[in-house]
Amino acid sequence: MGDVHEIFLPKKVIVGNGAVRKVVEVLGDLKVDGLKVGVITGENTYKAGGHVVENMVKDLAEAYLWKAEDPSVKTASHIAEEVVKRKVNVVIGVGGGKAIDIAKYVAYVAKIPMLSIPLAPSHDGVASPFSSLKGANRPYSVYTTVPYSIIADIELVSRAPRRLVLSGLGDLLGKFVSVRDWALAHRLRGEYYGEYAAQLALLSAKHAMKYHELIASATPEGIRILVEALISSGVSMCIAGSSRPASGSEHLFAHALELLAPGKALHGEAVALGTIIMLYIYGDPLWKRIKRVAKKVGLPTTAKDLGIPDEVIVSALTIAHTIRPERYTVLGEKGLSEEAAVKVLRETGIIE
Ligand code: ZN
Repeated sequence: MGDVHEIFLPKKVIVGNGAVRKVVEVLGDLKVDGLKVGVITGENTYKAGGHVVENMVKDLAEAYLWKAEDPSVKTASHIAEEVVKRKVNVVIGVGGGKAIDIAKYVAYVAKIPMLSIPLAPSHDGVASPFSSLKGANRPYSVYTTVPYSIIADIELVSRAPRRLVLSGLGDLLGKFVSVRDWALAHRLRGEYYGEYAAQLALLSAKHAMKYHELIASATPEGIRILVEALISSGVSMCIAGSSRPASGSEHLFAHALELLAPGKALHGEAVALGTIIMLYIYGDPLWKRIKRVAKKVGLPTTAKDLGIPDEVIVSALTIAHTIRPERYTVLGEKGLSEEAAVKVLRETGIIE
């Protein structure tokens, strides 16, 4: 028998105005006896939509609410313990990245289905089977659970701050690099490569590029395009069974930057910057177009824009290859020397 490759996909993806009302139907689909639902949200996201979900759930099941601000393994493990103790059998993550990442982790530990209800289109984790949690010994995401359902209510998501919208766009632009790194690792290291998953991830980047003006306008139409592309990217990871199609050297740089300058750049902002850098390293003139678009829509394209000192950006680039050594990318095993990093960052206009 050849290589066995299993694919787990979300069962139901619902996108549209008022989609959140479908949560009742989706919970019904699960056909769980004695339904006990855990709603995981944040303080602000509770006000922004978490309470709507909580109220709907309360009408048909026993409901528990957790407001989690800190996306750490500790918080997630604590909630998972409570979930198991109270015999909660479905968990819903309502919010931006944090609540959804925690909910996926909790579902994984408790072995129960998870529903993803994003309130911000800031990255592709809303539909992926990966959770990015702090204190996990590694600054990147780990495989947890494929959401049973993704419910993206455009009306609610459209209320997200514009910076989060642009971050989502930035996360998608990264796929221009990640799919190349994946193909490179396949050619150089014989790593498994799935053409279909790669093409799907790439499509989400092309789509984001094509509609960048509409997305940046943050109108419901633009938000819908963005959300659909983020979901497609998440699904590409489900198909690949790894984050490979959606996360390469541009993400390694983003993780390094988050490590050295925590909280300065949003995930997708750092990824967009990493995309410009890595495309330049690949010798692909596309970096210039990406930079133009990023600048036009208002994504940061310089160290100054992010309020991060030049030296820190240089350091992030020189350590990026160490973040996840088993993930082979254009950075190779040795990464960039400081001298080379400075040159790349100057040539791309990121530092002075
Ligand atoms: Zn990402």
